[in-house]
Amino acid sequence: MRRMVRMFAAAAAVLALAPVAPAQMAQEIVDMDAVKSIRVEGLENSQIEELAGYLTDVIGPRLTNSPGMTRANEWTAEMLTEWGLANVQIEPWGEFGRGWERVSYSGRILTPYAQPLVAQPSGWTGSTPGMVTGPAVIIEAESVEELEEYRGTLAGAWILARPAVEMSPDWDPRPLRTPLEDLLEPPEEQEGRPQRDPEERARRIAEWRRMREVRQAMNEFLIGEGIAGMLVPSSREYTLVRGGGSGAGRDPANPEPPPELNVSGEQYNQIYRNVKRGIPVELEIDVQNQFYSDDLQSYNTLGDIPGSDLADEYVMIGAHLDSWHYGTGATDDGAGSIVMMEAMRILKALDLQPRRTIRIALWAGEEQGLLGSRGWVENHPDLHPKISAYLNVDNGTGRVRGIWDQSNEAVIPVFEQILWPFRDLGVVAVKHGNTGGTDHLAFDAVGIPGFNYIQDPIEYGTFTHHTAADTFERLMLDDLKQAAVVVAATAYHLAMRDEMMPRKPVEPPTTD
Ligand SMILES: [Zn+2]
Repeated sequence: MRRMVRMFAAAAAVLALAPVAPAQMAQEIVDMDAVKSIRVEGLENSQIEELAGYLTDVIGPRLTNSPGMTRANEWTAEMLTEWGLANVQIEPWGEFGRGWERVSYSGRILTPYAQPLVAQPSGWTGSTPGMVTGPAVIIEAESVEELEEYRGTLAGAWILARPAVEMSPDWDPRPLRTPLEDLLEPPEEQEGRPQRDPEERARRIAEWRRMREVRQAMNEFLIGEGIAGMLVPSSREYTLVRGGGSGAGRDPANPEPPPELNVSGEQYNQIYRNVKRGIPVELEIDVQNQFYSDDLQSYNTLGDIPGSDLADEYVMIGAHLDSWHYGTGATDDGAGSIVMMEAMRILKALDLQPRRTIRIALWAGEEQGLLGSRGWVENHPDLHPKISAYLNVDNGTGRVRGIWDQSNEAVIPVFEQILWPFRDLGVVAVKHGNTGGTDHLAFDAVGIPGFNYIQDPIEYGTFTHHTAADTFERLMLDDLKQAAVVVAATAYHLAMRDEMMPRKPVEPPTTD
């Protein structure tokens, strides 16, 4: 006999953060036996450590369309198949562009004294013809006209086109865990997106377009001048390399961009200051990268636990499998990927039979604009009315503290009651409001309830997000076990309830 608990509105009302009257709350049936067995399987028989270790140490970084991403698609599909999921697929979502991978890099600053250059190539940028020695040159130009004064002076130079980085001590370090009082803060009023003055908006868009044209013209000018390559400063301090990639370099219609190195901020600044002092800085650099153009399509990994009487309806869970290449994409978003895999493993290991089909999706191309999830959503319009909810984890390694309602108040009492049995594991907040930046937006944009869990920040915003430090060491394995348990239970209960998740009216897509 399963112990089914009808959560009473009074209990839920204590938790509810948004102004939802108790009378509006439907009662959820929470299967306490399922909760208990999910907790035991997830906390005592966890596979999180093995999954995390393999994904980060053996497969490594997973830049979209890189060989690493292909290995990750294959391995995740293998694991889901091994656990007995159905319909396991590595499914193309559309054309992404070229693949790219680091092959080798070595670099030194030669003058005024020799030292290794701490740097990594930006994604989708080119190679040097072997070892190249050349001067560092600063360019200060805000328009194409201003560039003209540099004509004829840049051949063989390493270009610094960005200003030195301002650095100061971290006076207000952020807490690694979110204090309870912050989680329980009353909801902010944020109905819809804040309206920006249309003139201000038009001005910003025009400025953004102008800067893009300037950058494009600058790049063409620099390539024409025969530069050795570009140096850009890391966007993190304490010698930590953090960066991104070249959108233009992905497009097979474009030539491969010149080499670009993402340099530790402190060394970038030192080079910059010495050049400004009039002290020549010679650099010696050999960077080799490989582009791949044989398959321009990119792929998501998917798999199902088929439902019973409501099998043609879906509860989806997902995270992005792709990462940047600077570290091994452990917290962004290896963490979410293995949490979702582990949630499926737990449900399968317990042989819990959901009424709706529970589908896992491990996306590609999130880092370049939620491309894999948006592509999948676009490719499956027939499923839109059948997807009850999509649940996403993509805020690092911290344990789950709650979930955003994505400005859909009707779901608050559902989540409050389903998540109630996890208060002792730190799950306390169902927050009213929108959270952005990741794959649930692909669903939200077409009116499918899409949600992203609230997590403790740990070192995500400060050290690991898109940096060389995003490695296995930074994973909090116990936090990830907790997250997998919470996700498994959420997905299971959403798949068991009589009704689909309440929907909100379709809003125009956001431009994040
Ligand atoms: Zn991410």
